Amino acid sequence: MSKSKSVAWKWLLCGAAAVCAVSLCVGAPTANADYKSAWEQAEQELKEETAKYNQIKNEKSKAEQQKQSLENQKSIITSQVNEAIDQINQKNSEIAIQQQAIADKQVEIDNRWSDFQNRMQAMQVMHDSGAVAMITSAQSIYDLLTYSDTLQQIAKKDTEVLEDMNAQKAELQQEEEKLEQDKAELEAAKQSLESKQAQLAAIIQQQNETISQKEAEAQAQQEVVAAKQAKADEAEKQYEAWVKSQATVGSGQCAEGFRWPLPIAGRVTTEFGASQNINGVISTGHSGMDVAAPAGTPIYAAHDGTISTTTGHWTYGNVVMVDNGDGVSTLYAHMSSIAVRVGQSVKQGDVIGYVGSTGNSTGNHLHFEVRINGVRQNPRNYVSP
Ligand SMILES: [Zn+2]
Repeated sequence: MSKSKSVAWKWLLCGAAAVCAVSLCVGAPTANADYKSAWEQAEQELKEETAKYNQIKNEKSKAEQQKQSLENQKSIITSQVNEAIDQINQKNSEIAIQQQAIADKQVEIDNRWSDFQNRMQAMQVMHDSGAVAMITSAQSIYDLLTYSDTLQQIAKKDTEVLEDMNAQKAELQQEEEKLEQDKAELEAAKQSLESKQAQLAAIIQQQNETISQKEAEAQAQQEVVAAKQAKADEAEKQYEAWVKSQATVGSGQCAEGFRWPLPIAGRVTTEFGASQNINGVISTGHSGMDVAAPAGTPIYAAHDGTISTTTGHWTYGNVVMVDNGDGVSTLYAHMSSIAVRVGQSVKQGDVIGYVGSTGNSTGNHLHFEVRINGVRQNPRNYVSP
């Protein structure tokens, strides 16, 4: 902290006129350090509100997933209900066939019964008035006995057939009862499926309400995030204006003869000016060049100079800034650790820190910036892997 103060004093001495000019024009906060803390505060608020937004989005997508699973269950039950309806229809037609069979059997029984009655009546008539005629027409007593025996046998046969038919009818009726029972069971099952279906529909309705509520919340939160983003952008602009006013002013003539700041080529993941997505937040106009490299890879000073800043910062993480003189400065961010002190002189190629993923970063990489008179330049114009 005391080192930072000494640099701040140096800046104040060098750039006093510029600071006064800025203060007069912008009507900015009283202390210079306020620009940085105001920006950090705004970024912190943006981060918190973005996290809330993501939380709401997560809740919404969870509700949507649950709804999907409920819809799946409902469609399974619907197909089960349809299957039950088919089976009930099937039972109904089986019952109709059965009822027809019973009716047919009844007709058979009735016909047979009326034949039987006719025969019995004929026998009765014969018994009452035709006995003498039968006796006379009979050739012998043997004939007569046989005749009577035959009649008895016919009667017996008729009775057997009728009994048999009645038994068949009873069996058909039993079968129909069984069919009716099956149908009743199917209808009960169908009813229970339908009540499940109704329950699911009610839950899905609730889920729809939750989803639209979350959607409304997400929209409202998106506005909050946008406002915070605008505030953070404005705070950053003011901070940058302040940094620019503090930076050594020069011709930028010594902005040549840089070396690649790593011992390996690494992999350039984001170019200067590109858009990037960090933890779901899209930002445009990337301020430097991102080079992916393993954690702990040494970071070299790209040029001779004096360490002007070593600090922990929420976006940059562990960051080192080197004042290379003549208005030129270089910045190295997201370090796992810093190897230099403010005010220290470094030669090109000196280790100033190690690759890490501190600050607002999603993986181990070096964020490298080149600034001339505080204005960020495309590092590609100065270094190549
Ligand atoms: Zn970067």
